[in-house]
Amino acid sequence: MCCLTYGGQDRFESPPGEPSSHKRSNVIHMSTPQRRHQPLHQSPADDLRGSGTVTDRLIEANARYAAEFNDPGMDARPVLKVAVVACMDARIDLHEVLGLELGDCHTIRNAGGVVTDDTIRSLTISQRALGTRAVVLIHHTGCGMLSLTENFRHELELEVGQRPSWAVEAFPDLDQDVRQSMERVRTSPFLLHTEDVRGFVFDVKTGLLREIDPEIAPEP
Ligand SMILES: [Zn+2]
Repeated sequence: MCCLTYGGQDRFESPPGEPSSHKRSNVIHMSTPQRRHQPLHQSPADDLRGSGTVTDRLIEANARYAAEFNDPGMDARPVLKVAVVACMDARIDLHEVLGLELGDCHTIRNAGGVVTDDTIRSLTISQRALGTRAVVLIHHTGCGMLSLTENFRHELELEVGQRPSWAVEAFPDLDQDVRQSMERVRTSPFLLHTEDVRGFVFDVKTGLLREIDPEIAPEP
């Protein structure tokens, strides 16, 4: 969520002082194996160097990946029967953050990690067709959605001449939006399993998750 520029201002840039590098935290012990394929770049500064477009580089990386790929013969059903809904923020490596391995879970990501109708669509398919039972929701500190408002839609309308049909789903309060997201999952009529729904805020500076109590009411 670092690249959407609108109205001449980068709406998703990190707050001052917040690292934008791919720095890893050692607060949470990782149980997943180290990256098994060659990284696309060695440092953020190398991102756009070299020939071809970034997509060309992805395709080249895939060719290397496929050359070493062995079909693990996995079932499509997540081993841990859990679906994780999280922000698309580039700083969050969900598998490393949660000690997950390939095949363990479904990951559903969007701007903010919010529970929209489409998130419910994915969760419904995840539970009813692919056997997941638990839902983990993850927002994070420094999220671009904290600095947006629904006025974003109005600005878009002024610029392009049509109002988007979707809500921005911006939020000024992380904890409260996690509570709202938990409530949206728990009250969905489409889901089979709404007993094990927990929400967290991931701190991008420490790597720690902080669980949100669903029962605490927002301050007036
Ligand atoms: Zn975010």
